[in-house]
Amino acid sequence: MLPAAEKVITRNWGKPDSWTLEAYRKSGGYQSLEKALGMSPQAVTDEVKKSNLRGRGGAGFPTGLKWSFVPKDSPKPKYLAVNADESEPGTFKDRYILENDPHMLLEGIAIAAFALGVHTAYIYARGEFKFPTQRLQGAVDEAYQAGFFGPSMLGKGFALDVYVVRGAGAYICGEETGMLESLEGKKGWPRLKPPFPAVVGLFGSPTVVNNVETLASVPAILEHGAAWYAKLGTEKSGGTKLICLSGSVKRPGVFEISMRTTVRQLIEDERYGQGMPAGRKVKAVIPGGSSAPVLAANELDVELEFEALKKVDNMAGSGGVIVMDDTTCMVRSLWRVIRFYAEESCGQCTPCREGGGWLEKILERIERGQGRESDLDLLMDVCDNISPGVAWPPAQTTICVLGPSMPPAVAAGIQMFRDEYLTHVREGRCPFPPDRLLLRLARV
Ligand code: SF4
Repeated sequence: MLPAAEKVITRNWGKPDSWTLEAYRKSGGYQSLEKALGMSPQAVTDEVKKSNLRGRGGAGFPTGLKWSFVPKDSPKPKYLAVNADESEPGTFKDRYILENDPHMLLEGIAIAAFALGVHTAYIYARGEFKFPTQRLQGAVDEAYQAGFFGPSMLGKGFALDVYVVRGAGAYICGEETGMLESLEGKKGWPRLKPPFPAVVGLFGSPTVVNNVETLASVPAILEHGAAWYAKLGTEKSGGTKLICLSGSVKRPGVFEISMRTTVRQLIEDERYGQGMPAGRKVKAVIPGGSSAPVLAANELDVELEFEALKKVDNMAGSGGVIVMDDTTCMVRSLWRVIRFYAEESCGQCTPCREGGGWLEKILERIERGQGRESDLDLLMDVCDNISPGVAWPPAQTTICVLGPSMPPAVAAGIQMFRDEYLTHVREGRCPFPPDRLLLRLARV
């Protein structure tokens, strides 16, 4: 039986003018901020810790614990950097928050800033988010006018300034330290860690980096209490989760689900995917954004929760679930994914810069029917050079995880669909119909 999901993040979506301050106030908005200002900052952090809220940007790190890493006695200013640079293929949930309920995020930012003793927050939005950023900036302006931001939050003497910054459209700026570099006006190159941003972050100061959905979850925690929020989820992951469902389902979209929902239930349930298009069967599913390895059709009874997916050597990641049916060419789909990562590599680390390009080229020639059987071993060899052992989670051989996240996806693809790879090689052609990408590349 599919567990019912409480509406936490999406509760205002679809209401008239849900993005305005007036609509947000009507639904009880900013009362959690008032409540937080009556508590001590430590008590607010403890509440978030007890709620088991985990980061929704990809890594799933416990949010309250992250907040507690910021040194309390630092003589430097502290910053909050909000990661709205959503650009993982198959992931499009944060933009819905920015468009439909930006004040829920802003209230979360205000509460987090108070808990952390932060007086300046930056929201770093993806360069392509023109419309969502307009909505967000409108909400920030309203929050200043209403006294939630500015020199004295609700007259309580706590100052907070919030700035919206749009990136230039580089995927790697979604990596937290790449984003900090970009915010500082530099090339968005990830930094070596340690030191971690909580200690040395933006402008060399302690910085907390949180994702949009993570912070938008905070007002509900303060409103209903940590125990209520924790109970919505599983033992180690509190709350509900936004899922971006795309690919071969009747009803793609963004859905708020209980983390006890399985991949199969997400695809088949009437409230979510409503099943496959007529005559189609599931071939594989990417459960957590395109950098996650694929799940085979017989692995769909796994819950879409951080620990459950970890147990099957996969990840919940950014919540992007991509469904592929029996007409999907697995060589081509993997080639597309690797093509994206190779293109977006910032080029600082040799395994990522060179390895990504190699993987892309080999996959392309197999897809075009020009591959050799030995290419399968060559792919695995390149993978092993990028990340020795090709295991999940990948061995860290580079500055950030972009490079090492390619091999597990490639290895899983070859392992699960070896026959399909060999058919490409032996028949000297792709056995599936061409799609728009192939046709476009053929013209170039
Ligand atoms: Fe850049 Fe790739 Fe190295 Fe990350 S792993 S820092 S994207 S070269």
